Amino acid sequence: MEKQPVIIIGAGVAGLTCANYLNRYNIPFTILEAGDAAGGRVRTDYVDGFQLDRGFQIFLTAYPEAKKILDYDALELKAFRQGAIIRQNGRFTKLVNPLREPMTAPRTLMAPIGSIPDKMKVVKLTAQLAPLDDTGIFSQPATSTIAWLSNYGWSEKMIRTFFQPFLGGIFLEKELITSSNFFQFVFQKFYKGDAALPSRGIGALAEQLAAALPAGSLRTGVAVNSISGKTVQLAGGETLTGSAVVVATGATAAARLLNQSPDQVFNQTTCVYFSADASPLDTPMLVINADPRGLVNNLSVPSDVAPRYAPPGKSLISVSVAGDHTLPGPQLVRAVRDELTGWFGEAVSGWQHLKTYVIPEALPRFTADQPEHKDLKLADGLYRCGDHTAYPSYNAAMLTGRMVAGMIAGK
Ligand SMILES: Cc1cc2nc3c(=O)[nH]c(=O)nc-3n(C[C@H](O)[C@H](O)[C@H](O)COP(=O)(O)OP(=O)(O)OC[C@H]3O[C@@H](n4cnc5c(N)ncnc54)[C@H](O)[C@@H]3O)c2cc1C
Repeated sequence: MEKQPVIIIGAGVAGLTCANYLNRYNIPFTILEAGDAAGGRVRTDYVDGFQLDRGFQIFLTAYPEAKKILDYDALELKAFRQGAIIRQNGRFTKLVNPLREPMTAPRTLMAPIGSIPDKMKVVKLTAQLAPLDDTGIFSQPATSTIAWLSNYGWSEKMIRTFFQPFLGGIFLEKELITSSNFFQFVFQKFYKGDAALPSRGIGALAEQLAAALPAGSLRTGVAVNSISGKTVQLAGGETLTGSAVVVATGATAAARLLNQSPDQVFNQTTCVYFSADASPLDTPMLVINADPRGLVNNLSVPSDVAPRYAPPGKSLISVSVAGDHTLPGPQLVRAVRDELTGWFGEAVSGWQHLKTYVIPEALPRFTADQPEHKDLKLADGLYRCGDHTAYPSYNAAMLTGRMVAGMIAGK
């Protein structure tokens, strides 16, 4: 008799990774995905020749789990120039990573963002973290990132003008209550590799994982309503029984399916896309806003990094508004446009609004009291994976997906 497949609920990065490893171990599986395609939070919409990632996302090439499973060459990764352009007091300051571009070191040291000792601490931390692997990073005692940065000796000005907007765009919260271990994980990955975009949009990460699966193993448009032992009931009434069940949904759906109280807190983000006739930037870098009153947290021009993001003759502008704002759609676009007119002048009035993505459950909040990963095996034949079981990153989704596949395979 043929072995029953493992049932994986959810085809985000975690579920797809779990499936890829099960496939390597020759264990049959079926992935059930409620959405109309695989990818979960990692998807790209194709609109009038523009590639619109569902929220501003970057792929850090140094993620160890990604190196294990993705074909980087096929993704045609295009890197941002390392560093950031900081918008502060009505002007832009370019802070290039001097470890990557040594010729820029004198200018970076003199840039009016933090003191010289502040900048030397960046070098010190880079060297300190270099030998640590992820387990080493996450097993350190943790505090909030804001407390950790301050204890490390960075000035209040460096924290306010650089770390809060820069990390605010990554953590999707500017108070920096996120765990200091997650900060160190991200900091190390920025220095060990590139911050990149796949040529065909961030969704290409998930598309590559899905394309590697056997035909017919992924069913989309299929929502699971409930789990009972190793049997799942689908929204349409159908039931399926597997050799094991893996809950690879986001935190809210996982809590519902596992009859747990939904206690996960999320960080939210909003991404506003514009089309322009020309890029407002002269280099493919991320712009971060150090003005605490600003609505805009960060801005980038993905088509400057990876030209396929916009059709010929156009530029795609991606603007991220961090946190929980209260402005309805058209007012938000107007407010963003007004703020950016202060940055780039009247050219902004010619930008066309393409689309706005509001993502309330963008990242599960990861604070100092949380372990590197929670229990992934919940009962005999019942497992869970996903970023909410570890920390908010593709790497964690892949790590936990791989770990669950390994548990099922007895590896
Ligand atoms: C705007 C934004 C920016 C980000 N930026 C970065 C970044 O720069 N770097 C980084 O490392 N990470 C980033 N992330 C985080 C990263 O995207 C996530 O950590 C990762 O994609 C989580 O994958 P997952 O598989 O755990 O969950 P999800 O992607 O949420 O996948 C869960 C899947 O389960 C499906 N599902 C839910 N309920 C059911 C059901 N009942 N039945 C069947 N299917 C169901 C969902 O449709 C979904 O496809 C970002 C996320 C967002 C939203």
